[in-house]
Amino acid sequence: MTDSVTSDSVMTIDGEAVTGEGAFDVLDPATGAPMGSAPQCSPAQLDRAMRSAQRAQKSWALDHEARRKAMHEAAEIMRNSAPELGPEFTREHGAPVQHAVGQIIISAAWLDYFADLELPASTVRTLPDRTIEISRRPIGVAAAITPWNAPILLAVWKIAPALAAGATMVLKPSPHTPLTTLALGRLLSAALPPGVLNVISGLEPLGQQLVSHPVPRKIAFTGSIPTGKAVGVAAAHDLKRVTLELGGNDAAIVLDDADIDAVVEPLFQSAFANSGQICEATKRVYVPERLYRRLLDALADRARAARVGSGLEPGVEMGPLTTDFQRDHVEDLVQEARAAGATIAAGGNRLPGDGYFFEPTVLGNVREGTRIVDEEQFGPALPVLAYKDLDEAVERANATMYGLSGSVWSTDLQRARSVAARLETGRVKINTFGLPSPDAPFGGVKWSGVGVENGPWALEAYTDLHVTEIGVGSH
Ligand code: NAD
Repeated sequence: MTDSVTSDSVMTIDGEAVTGEGAFDVLDPATGAPMGSAPQCSPAQLDRAMRSAQRAQKSWALDHEARRKAMHEAAEIMRNSAPELGPEFTREHGAPVQHAVGQIIISAAWLDYFADLELPASTVRTLPDRTIEISRRPIGVAAAITPWNAPILLAVWKIAPALAAGATMVLKPSPHTPLTTLALGRLLSAALPPGVLNVISGLEPLGQQLVSHPVPRKIAFTGSIPTGKAVGVAAAHDLKRVTLELGGNDAAIVLDDADIDAVVEPLFQSAFANSGQICEATKRVYVPERLYRRLLDALADRARAARVGSGLEPGVEMGPLTTDFQRDHVEDLVQEARAAGATIAAGGNRLPGDGYFFEPTVLGNVREGTRIVDEEQFGPALPVLAYKDLDEAVERANATMYGLSGSVWSTDLQRARSVAARLETGRVKINTFGLPSPDAPFGGVKWSGVGVENGPWALEAYTDLHVTEIGVGSH
């Protein structure tokens, strides 16, 4: 155990620091050894958190100006905490420390943005004998569940719109990366009234208990498709509203006019940033046969040049995978593809030692029907597939139940736009990798999700519509 900010972590329930009924180890993915421990929230403590969120919600909803001030203050606290929290984030997650610090600073922008966002009431129709006014009311208490790949950003994507809407929250981070989120809960309690944001942690069945608890009227979940479906089913029993942000298998389609030299770096970043553990990372590349060899070799050269190591070491570009099972999953998919005849243009192996490192890997001679093409690898291994004509490439990109995002790479913007319009995804990028912003909706179609986060759409998702019909003669 160390004396770092997160090692003796506590939950935040009703504004207070609360230890769990038991604790569980959090591992450092760079070493595989415990780096801290997190509290296990008991059912009684969960209930206390829910009740405190329920109590706090009434007064939190009443005063918009107080919410605005508190959220800007919370944003400032978050930015100031980044240098201290960043290394702790790296130690539980693995990402290079500059990325960790960057994620915390960027996330604060969501608190600022939503603090100032309003959903004005409107009058949709005035008949001679009546006026109909439409407004939005906060949804009450929201329960939020986050994954391990971007713990702070994805937490704030839920906290900021919920709090701005006048809802309150009980948030549960992934048990693989709970510590930075728990620390954030403590820090933000300096700006937020007790009960407005409760942060709890624990191994399963805590997530299931959160979803089935009678208090929350809304579940905001980011994670895998199988868990997302289970959350949707559980929420349906109580007709709770859901936002589900789930997995992706994003295709990048390189057109035959693409400038390969210009494409390689952003395409590499789109697939390998955060060691490939990004929901909207490029997970398969389609390239015309004529350009296939050139792009494969260039991506392989770039992958070999990437410096992999502990995120705490200066100059490291890619850290370990965050969990051992994710590293094992990527390794299985690469081995299976290799056995099916894929060529390994770069990488292909785990690194020796106890950390969860895997070489940045580029695969060629691989087809649909291989799991690394058909499923979400969520790691640093990228299949490159040749296509004959563009219609075929679009069809292959769309032949999946994933529908999160995708990208098109071309020097002809008109053509790129027309291909982008045909991708069956919630988002698509042209000649760039994804950089989410607070005001642009983020979400998927098909099995990649239900609803969106960010922008006014996210604020709406923490409210219910309320319609007032006023008869003639009313004053
Ligand atoms: P996961 O589904 O295993 O876990 C997500 C969260 O759900 C964790 O907090 C976990 O503890 C909790 N959980 C587990 N079982 C539960 C249950 N039965 N009921 C309620 N909660 C439960 O996902 P993960 O491995 O942590 O995250 C990786 C996945 O998340 C990938 O598929 C990735 O694509 C996806 N993801 C999606 C987005 C998006 O915005 N669409 C963003 C990031 C990650």
